[in-house]
Amino acid sequence: MSAQNLLGLLPSELEALARELGASAYRGRQLATWLYRKGVFDLEAMTDLPKELRERLRGRATVGLPAIERVVPSRDGSRKFILRLADGGTIHSVLMPDDDRQTLCLSTQVGCGFACAFCHTGTMGVERNLGADEIVGQLLLAQTALPAGERVTHVVLMGMGEPLANYANTVKAIRIMTDTRHGLGYSPRRITVSTVGLVSGIEKLAREDLGVNLAISLHATTDLVRERLMPVNRSWNLDALLGAVRRFPLPARRRIFFEYVMLDQVNTSLDDAHRLARLLRGIRAKVNLIPFNDWEGAEFRRPPLSTILAFQSVLLDAGITTTVRWSKGEDIGAACGQLSEVRAAAARRGEPMNPKMAKPRAAAARFELSGVGEAVASPPRGEA
Ligand code: SAH
Repeated sequence: MSAQNLLGLLPSELEALARELGASAYRGRQLATWLYRKGVFDLEAMTDLPKELRERLRGRATVGLPAIERVVPSRDGSRKFILRLADGGTIHSVLMPDDDRQTLCLSTQVGCGFACAFCHTGTMGVERNLGADEIVGQLLLAQTALPAGERVTHVVLMGMGEPLANYANTVKAIRIMTDTRHGLGYSPRRITVSTVGLVSGIEKLAREDLGVNLAISLHATTDLVRERLMPVNRSWNLDALLGAVRRFPLPARRRIFFEYVMLDQVNTSLDDAHRLARLLRGIRAKVNLIPFNDWEGAEFRRPPLSTILAFQSVLLDAGITTTVRWSKGEDIGAACGQLSEVRAAAARRGEPMNPKMAKPRAAAARFELSGVGEAVASPPRGEA
């Protein structure tokens, strides 16, 4: 049997493993505490575990974190982690400080298969799902990068990939994060899952008892435009998507977040704003307008500020909380981060690199990752 990564296991599974190795469930809980509470990943350092159990564990399991290939700091304080997985795949997480918060934006897949027209990751296709260990691992790693006493306070699953297309591993990772007894102990109110609009996944999520926030990448107010921007709309159109959202069990005083990327001349007219207000009628919603983040080869433009503000006013006048999320980390040229992914993926396939990718459009070039986290990174105080 191949070695199992302890970091992808629920505390209850660690208990079962301890029993399987001839120890008590209590030892499994101790193990979970070391890994998830104390952030200690070296079995040798877990001194209160019997030596024999540690030896048996070493024979059966590993404690594997992604390797940090590079940390790219931004002048605004955010940091992008470029992580190398055991099979050579590359993913990103982005840590974004904001007042008393540290929000971490996590990836759930290597690449993404949904091919949204405005998204750079969408041009790559999906390589594979991340395991629960690799999702939790991103959080544990970011945690080690913070000074003692500081903690990642909020988690958004808005990095590379579609969380609901990697449903089981995403949900398992969230359960490890929210296990208050021996897991990481995060309140589900501090965790946000963002989806392209995978209705089957939203419906499944509605039946779990997770209590996490849901963010919907809406991006258009008519099926015609949404279909052009997001192929997933051909499987589940606006009606189906908003129906699923209306049925989603929303805890008291919580809202559904809607992300709306502002693409000049595409989805930013005042008619769009009025239609959006109508579409969201009856939904406890919060809208995050995300000015488009440019990348080489993109066929879209960020609209002028006046357009964004006019759009926002229509929504505000309709009584919908609406914020504009300006991206952080422009200076860390997140396109460079994607460049390394492209290079890594191409190298693995033995292909030359796309020379176009070698020249990101200077400071304007941004990979969607460092911008998106903020889409719901800062819900109004008291909400999370
Ligand atoms: N697959 C999930 C999460 C990843 S993308 C989802 O679709 O929600 C996170 C957010 O960033 C989504 O709302 C996505 O549409 C948005 N986004 C992607 N590319 C962008 C770009 N170039 N500029 C601004 N936002 C972008």
